[in-house]
Amino acid sequence: MKLTILGSYGPFPEAGGTCSGYLLEQDGCYILLDCGNGVLSRLQFYIGLDKLSAVIISHLHSDHISDLFILRYALQLAFDNGFRNLPLKIFSPAEPEAEFARFSSYKDIFDIEIIAENKQFEIGSLQFSFLQTVHSVPSYAVSVSYHNRKKIVYSSDTEYFPQLSNYAENAPLFLCESNLLAADLQKGKINHLSASQAAKLAREGRVKQLLLTHLFPYRDPQAYLKEAAAIFPAAELAREGKTYRVADI
Ligand SMILES: [Zn+2]
Repeated sequence: MKLTILGSYGPFPEAGGTCSGYLLEQDGCYILLDCGNGVLSRLQFYIGLDKLSAVIISHLHSDHISDLFILRYALQLAFDNGFRNLPLKIFSPAEPEAEFARFSSYKDIFDIEIIAENKQFEIGSLQFSFLQTVHSVPSYAVSVSYHNRKKIVYSSDTEYFPQLSNYAENAPLFLCESNLLAADLQKGKINHLSASQAAKLAREGRVKQLLLTHLFPYRDPQAYLKEAAAIFPAAELAREGKTYRVADI
């Protein structure tokens, strides 16, 4: 299985950067996890848009969905020119209602299926399941399995809560947001994890590899890495444009 980091910033990118977007590839199936600003452009370095099998949206904040609104233009053109005849499958939470209504009205373009905590489905040879996280809007961590073996867990946006480490337990790869540093938490920041909390989750869940993502722009990324590596040495920064391979077995 391949995971390519298309965008690793939140809630906005620094110059040349991109917000949340991660491309999964397995057995010729291409699935986009989140579709923030800049993702559509980056995606096309790897695949043509006609290759996209589905999009999974973790939660309805603009840094995770904004490029859906231009993806629809590209799909509309494909329909108009006869290159496409089926809507693109989008898996998404249904709340906040006003945000959901903004893209769910494009019914001829997007075939939308609502995700919730008990929802499970397969796309190609991959299985997906969800865990609601602690965030300002309904937000879902995503577990990706192959032949029913957990391969990748993506945290979505969240505060620290202990169940997330159970959910990620023994994952070969844990893609975890770390928008904050410990000092931010001390100043009262909420809604996101610090790098040390991401590392704590990785250690508690005994994951093999931790990728720190959803970093705040205009900060030295090494500050995140230093904080995380003190707790979980196998921590890395998710690097935009880099492809990570998770073994099939
Ligand atoms: Zn975000």
